[in-house]
Amino acid sequence: PSVRVAARRSPPSPADHALGNAVNAEIYPLVNQLVKSPFFRYVKVDLHKPCPFWKENFKCMNQDCVVQVMDEGKVRIEAPFMYQDVNLGDVKPMPAALGGSAPSGGSALGGSGPAAPGGLNFFSQCQFAKDFCVLEDESSANGEYVDLQENPERFTGYSGAPANNVWKAIYQENCFNSPVAGGHHGAPGLALDAPDLCEEKQVFHQIISGLHASISVHICAEYLNKTTGQWQRHPQCYQARVGNFPDRVHNVYVVYSLLLRAMAKLEPYLAHQLDICTGKPKDDAAVQTALAHLAGDLAPRYALDASRLFQGPHRTALMDEVRSRFRNVSRIMDCVSCQKCRLWGKTQVTGIGTALKVVFGLSDEMIQGNVSSPTGKPLLSRFEIVALVNTLNRFAESVRDIVAFEEELARDEALK
Ligand code: FAD
Repeated sequence: PSVRVAARRSPPSPADHALGNAVNAEIYPLVNQLVKSPFFRYVKVDLHKPCPFWKENFKCMNQDCVVQVMDEGKVRIEAPFMYQDVNLGDVKPMPAALGGSAPSGGSALGGSGPAAPGGLNFFSQCQFAKDFCVLEDESSANGEYVDLQENPERFTGYSGAPANNVWKAIYQENCFNSPVAGGHHGAPGLALDAPDLCEEKQVFHQIISGLHASISVHICAEYLNKTTGQWQRHPQCYQARVGNFPDRVHNVYVVYSLLLRAMAKLEPYLAHQLDICTGKPKDDAAVQTALAHLAGDLAPRYALDASRLFQGPHRTALMDEVRSRFRNVSRIMDCVSCQKCRLWGKTQVTGIGTALKVVFGLSDEMIQGNVSSPTGKPLLSRFEIVALVNTLNRFAESVRDIVAFEEELARDEALK
């Protein structure tokens, strides 16, 4: 008798841009709606931290660099939940039946576990080690409330030496000293263009370059024509900064698929533990349903195959190195002297850092809630979740804009 063998589906590869575009046609409208909901549009960020690496003596004075912050009255009306409880994205206490125990005292964010040498409590030190970013603390007294929808990432005029120096510092984080032997396992779809570096380090470079390219796409998609004062698309800007460099285009797809891998892996957490409660139950239920569809059905269709990364004998050392370098990138964001660029730089670096933490730092057991932290400290902060979803939206926009720009440029070419 003939045996029917199920066809093996190879994992989607970020190199398959056509597949990414097709999946994005469904993801973009959904995630673009999600980020308009109260839970995802409001953040509390400190945009006035000093640059820890060099003395900044430039401040972007362009009107378009300014972030519109929310005054207290507006926050109380539009985002009262931000005031009432900054931990709305926290893990719900696990039912005792599942082996959970009530948090052992102390605030979830601050923690009050046993003191460790140096002042930090022990668990916060562990968390510190796991985060790929220096995180914004929405419970801090510092910082301002911002409506991300009111402050779109677009052309601001921030350029020249101040902007170039920040990018230079970020790329410097990519200068790994020692290639790790035996690291060439070549997962499909990842463009390996520096053969002396192991794959993980190349992926790190692709992530930075993909973020840079995505920001450039946004700048060119909403470019200010200084002559007419109109915001307009600028295909030549896209071509010069991104389109002429296939590796930069590809790196946008790599980051997009990394974010989707994180969303797919987080599905059980989003479905069962993320407590969205903005005071509008109907809206919150719709957000929860959309998140479930996004994470459960759509994201797996173009999620990066991360199974071969961080698997070799140097796994831990390599992970530590990548993590500490990415943390430095997040600190460099405080050196961005255009406030709006800083806001979106912080948000997107946190979003990508959260994706790295979810994909490489959290086990499935943790995400499913079968392992509880000793202090009840949340697996992910509200800001991390909000940043992840907003960053996914930005990359979904970039993928959509890349398709549109390429079509526009091809049309122009055909008319010549
Ligand atoms: P830059 O984009 O500054 O690039 C510098 C050099 O890096 C290039 O010459 C090239 O050699 C290399 N490079 C460029 N792209 C890539 C890539 N994808 N991969 C690898 N190498 C690359 N400006 C805005 O108008 N709005 C914003 O919201 C905004 N946000 C920013 C956020 C951050 C974190 C930073 C650091 C800058 C931001 N900027 C923003 C500034 C913007 O990114 C550019 O620096 C600026 O427009 C000047 O561009 P440029 O042509 O000099 O080249």
